[in-house]
Order: sequence, then structure tokens, then C-alpha cells
Amino acid sequence: MENELKVNPSGVSGGTGGAREYMILTHADYENGIKEGKLLGLRCLTCNKITCPPTPVCQWCGSMNLERTELGREGELITFTVIRVPPEGFEDDVPYIPCLVRTREGPCIVGRLDYDAERATQELLGKQVKLNGSYTRGDKFSGGLRTCPVFSVTE
Ligand SMILES: [Zn+2]
Repeated sequence: MENELKVNPSGVSGGTGGAREYMILTHADYENGIKEGKLLGLRCLTCNKITCPPTPVCQWCGSMNLERTELGREGELITFTVIRVPPEGFEDDVPYIPCLVRTREGPCIVGRLDYDAERATQELLGKQVKLNGSYTRGDKFSGGLRTCPVFSVTE
């Protein structure tokens, strides 16, 4: 019977839809995972690469065909900076070290480096790091608390 034929020209799999079902890993889920010592991300069922932090589509190929996954806790320190003149609201934190870590699975993640700021030099670049905690802070600009991962150098 023709009226039973289901046409799906976009290639997107069927289902009842709805934003919650579509967004299988929210940023809040990601932050809660960090608090529990886990790096949560999305595995693309089209290209098999990992997206982290979560976005609505695969960060590599744009596919919406994603499943929730947990990354390892290890990565490589790609870059960092030492903050001595803080943004408003972060006066108590200085000096501190925002950093960019490339996970073993591929995605780069922004976090903080747990390291003596007086000893932090370019020689740290490329070192192996590991997720060792979380940092939660609010400021008057972004509205509400945000949690980021904290990494320590393991070599
Ligand atoms: Zn993909």
C-alpha cells in the first residue's frame, strides 16, 4: 500500500523527535561528568570520531548520528597561559593556568592546569596530562556556575 511507504529523504533516522531525545549529551551532563571524574563525549556513528565537549552535531563531519561515550582521562598539553591579571571575579584565583589538552581520542578540551605557576614554562608543552579534578566557578557575566576539568602533569 502506497500510503504506508515512509520516505526519509534527509537520511536522518526516524523517531518521535524532540529536543531532549536529540541532544543525548547536554553541556550540563558534560559538566556533571567532570565533577564525577569522567570525560563524557559523543561517538559519531558515521565517521567514528569523538566529539567533546558535546555539540549537537559531530565536530568532524557534521553528522547527527551520535551516541554517548566516555573518554579516557589522559591527553597531551597543547598550550597554556598563566593568568596574573585576572578577569573580574577571579581575583582570588591568581595566578592560575588555563590550558588546552588534546585527548587521546582527538578532541581538544579547555581546562585548568594544576601546576606551580612560577615554574610553568614552554617546556611543559607536549607533556602528558591526566584529568585529576574539577573547578566550578561563577562570574557576573556568564550567569551561573560553570565547571571545567583540571589536569595535572603525569611525566
Ligand atoms: Zn562524524
